Parts: sequence; C-alpha cells; structure tokens
Amino acid sequence: MALDTYEEDMLRCTRCSYCKWIPHQVMSDSHFLTVCPSIDRYNFHGWSAGGRQIAALSLLKGRTNVGEKFLDMIYQCQMCGGCDVSCKIERDLEPYEVMQQLRIMCIERGDIIPEHLLFIDGLKKEDNMMMESKEKRGDWAEGLNVKVLTKEHADVLFHAGCRYSFDHELWSTCRSALTILLNAGVDIGILGKEETCCGGRSYEMGYASELMKYAEHNTDTWKAAGVKTVVTPCADCYQAFKVLYSKTGQKHAVEVLHITEFIDRLMKEGKIRLTKRVPLTVTYHDPCHLGRLAEPWVHWEGKKVKVNGQMVVHDPPKKKRCGANGVYEAPRDILRKIPGLNFVEMHRIREYAWCCGAGGGVKEAYPDFAEWTAARRLEEAAVVGAKALVSACPWCKRNFIDATPNTDARVEVYDIIELVEQAI
Ligand code: SF4
Ligand code: SF4
Repeated sequence: MALDTYEEDMLRCTRCSYCKWIPHQVMSDSHFLTVCPSIDRYNFHGWSAGGRQIAALSLLKGRTNVGEKFLDMIYQCQMCGGCDVSCKIERDLEPYEVMQQLRIMCIERGDIIPEHLLFIDGLKKEDNMMMESKEKRGDWAEGLNVKVLTKEHADVLFHAGCRYSFDHELWSTCRSALTILLNAGVDIGILGKEETCCGGRSYEMGYASELMKYAEHNTDTWKAAGVKTVVTPCADCYQAFKVLYSKTGQKHAVEVLHITEFIDRLMKEGKIRLTKRVPLTVTYHDPCHLGRLAEPWVHWEGKKVKVNGQMVVHDPPKKKRCGANGVYEAPRDILRKIPGLNFVEMHRIREYAWCCGAGGGVKEAYPDFAEWTAARRLEEAAVVGAKALVSACPWCKRNFIDATPNTDARVEVYDIIELVEQAI
C-alpha cells in the first residue's frame, strides 16, 4: 500500500481536529482530554494527524521539499494510534496509515533521520534494535533450566524481544516471566542467541523492508521449530507478530499470545494461583501495541465510490478498525485477582489511552519528548490516587523509569509480571 493509495483520505481530512482529543463521550477530567502527545507538546497543527495528512498530500503532489523541520514534524510522533481511533469515531478515514506510508516514502526518497539510521545499521548487522552484539542475546536467561529450541523441541516458544534481551535492569522481570510459565508446567523454550528482532520498531520508523525480512525469518523459524504457540512479554513484538505480519501477508498457523493472555489462561485453568497479598494501590497503563494497535488486521480490497458526486463509500464495505479489539481484559483480570491489590483506573484508558512515549522512533531520536510524554502519564496515575503504575511492556517500563526524575509525581513503576511473581 503506497501513499498514493490514501490520496482520497488525505483530501477528505476536514481539519476538524478530533484526532487531537479523546472522544467527548469518554472525557472525565478537564486535565486529561488530549490523546495526541505530539500536538500537546508542540502545539502547531502540523504536529497532529490532521496536519500530517496535509503534509503527506503536499509531498505526494510535489508541492513541498523535505527539510529538517519537515522531518521533525513527521517523526515527533509516537505512532501511538490515538488519533486514528478518535478520527474514526466520526470519519471513515485512515490517518494512521497515511502517516505510516509517509514515513516509508521519506525513507525511499533518502530523507532519513541520522539518529534512526544508527539503530537501523545496528539492526542490519546484529538483528536487534539496541545496538548490541547478537552474541549476547540470550544472556538474560543464563542459569535458567530452559530448552533451547534450536536443539530441542517444545510446544511453546518464549520470545523475549530486543529490549528485554539487552536491558540489564529489566532482565529479572524477563526471567520471572519465563520462570512463572516453567513452574506452571508449560512445555516452553527459547531461541537464545538465535532469537532476532520482530521488525516492528524499524517498520514504524519507515523501514518497510526490515519488517518483511523479519516477518519471513521469524515465521520460518517458528515452522522449523515446530512450535504451536509463541508467547512474548513485549507488547511491540506481540503487535508485530499478530498485526504487522498479517498486514505483510505472511501466513503461519502459530498461535501468538502476549504473556498477560497466557497467564490469564493458566490462571483460569488453575495452573497459576495468586495467593499472596500485595497491598498496593495501582493503576494500569495500556501499552499502545497491546491495546488499540493490537486490533487484528483486516485486509480490504475494493473500490472507493462517490455517491451523489460527493460522499465516498467503500465497495465492498470496509470494516473500521477502531482499536476496541486490543488486549484490555487479560491484564485487568490478572490485577483484579491479586489479593490485597487495590486497582484504580486512569482517565484515559483502553483504546483512548495516553501513550508511554517510547514508540515510533521517538525514544531513539527525541528522548526528551519521549520522557515528557511518560511524565504526563505518571502525573495522571498520581491524580487517580495510584501509588504504582503497572504496564505490560518493557519499552513502557524503561521510558517510565527514565521519566521519573522529570516529574513531581511520586509513583512507582512495575511490569505486571513483577506483581504476579509477588502474588504467587
Ligand atoms: S485526521 Fe481525521 S480527525 Fe484529524 S483533522 Fe483530519 S478528519 Fe479530522
Ligand atoms: S500517532 Fe499518536 S503522537 Fe502521532 S499524531 Fe497520532 S496521536 Fe499524535
């Protein structure tokens, strides 16, 4: 799908600015009404989905050049998808796809952000987005008695992802996740240093060929290993496996689960029991890649037809992907079952959640903007009385930890795996 596929969408953007806000039906506090970190921080229409529709059309029609400011406008955006959900409340447009294709077009033209290129070069050499040696991938699991699926067989593959594989401060959480599953009797293994990136983060930066490469590689690896299920504690990997691979047309019969879905299932089967009290008031942050961006991909082919010379309709009708079908219940089910835990919700949740700030290449190229975004979320957590903010993705946790010194909100940061471990 090239950018010109979406020309109608760009033309039909009415500059209504719905994409800057959560829908008014779910607004509950005047301090937490916006959904777009980009417009909230930079406060100029170009730094919103609506503004980027205009920029994309200008570039497509050859009416503008790409300079440093243009690239900042395109890339100071987490690709969190909040805009897309809000736009689709009223309109049948694809602002998110336009922004994705705009990035791909910039890369194809050679209009590249140098900071991103460092990570992409690292990816091409070392198969990870952390600029680390691939030889060290798998070190996080040292000493755990777990099968390595290049030599042995198991039904389930545990895919740690780049962040957990190389962020030493988060290793204990990843080890806990795997240990919880091993102790529940799951026949599970890892790929160790043969594990590679999912390709998702590079795709969001605009590097479409990297996604294709890793989609082929990973699905071939799963088939060769003969696994039935892939489980990951990383929301980014989950979304790449579940949604982006399907978008690329990559076919496989392997079940993809996020760790929260798997733990929730094992709890319902009585294989994991949460019995210990965790006396803490917590709130839950929906990672964008586990929430609205994890809505299954729906392939559509057809025509756009003008009715009465004005209204454009899809023939056959196209299903709107509004973000409501992400993974929202499993993590909440788990939290509600932890004895002694007091679970409170924030003002912007589920498909209307505020982003942690780490996605879309922002953490890599604009770390101050990434941390600013996370600090706003920590403040929202404090306002609803939470003593801790819980997420379900290592990229969220890393960014919340990094942002903590930038805010007066005194909120601890956990991954949900840590609370499950405490409760077992
Ligand atoms: S992208 Fe959608 S919500 Fe945003 S200004 Fe355009 S039509 Fe309105
Ligand atoms: S993807 Fe997120 S940051 Fe980017 S324009 Fe949409 S809401 Fe704003």
